[in-house]
Amino acid sequence: MQQVALAAMAVHSILASIPTYSTLSLLSPFSSSSIHTSLTSSSFNGFSFKLSPQTQSLSFSTSATPKPFTIVAATKKAVAVLKGTSDVEGVVTLTQENEGPTTVSVRITGLTPGNHGFHLHEFGDTTNGCISTGPHFNPNGMTHGAPEDEVRHAGDLGNIVANTDGVAEAKIVDNQIPLSGPNSVVGRALVVHELEDDLGKGGHELSLSTGNAGGRLACGVVGLTPM
Ligand SMILES: [Zn+2]
Repeated sequence: MQQVALAAMAVHSILASIPTYSTLSLLSPFSSSSIHTSLTSSSFNGFSFKLSPQTQSLSFSTSATPKPFTIVAATKKAVAVLKGTSDVEGVVTLTQENEGPTTVSVRITGLTPGNHGFHLHEFGDTTNGCISTGPHFNPNGMTHGAPEDEVRHAGDLGNIVANTDGVAEAKIVDNQIPLSGPNSVVGRALVVHELEDDLGKGGHELSLSTGNAGGRLACGVVGLTPM
């Protein structure tokens, strides 16, 4: 038994000594489950080790078990080009470092001066103009709110403000609009609205669904772009 434990420790220390083990495992032909059940000999970029059948269950069922696959050190960038039926148009870029917040840089022209609701809508479908982008992106089944509210649609990015020239420029940093994973906003649409978003607090019958932000002036599908 002592030998088995020593062997397990040795395997653990070997694995721990490979600093980018989880990265390398992405390149390995073995999935983590196959390592559990069938691995007796494997190699990671020229490094190899062998296990006896007795040591497998011990070593791989404890701390040496690889974590679920993680994409490391990824900066993602996406862009949306907003167009509509009026003169309103713009470009919005979205960047995200690893699993951090997404930074949204907005420049939209042709607006009336003042506040305009700005949201991520559920669908990247513009076959019927901005209407077919559907409702605000809402994977958690919440009601409409302000970006800083706990109860909000993930797509609720608040208002952008156009100056007297009709130009709105903004930088928004938000935690609920990742560029990858199950709640990724890539393939969904950004929409700028005719009116101010009341952030769910206006008391209108539409306040808790759309912020009563009126028509959809321009929209664009969020798509990945090179860094
Ligand atoms: Zn909303």
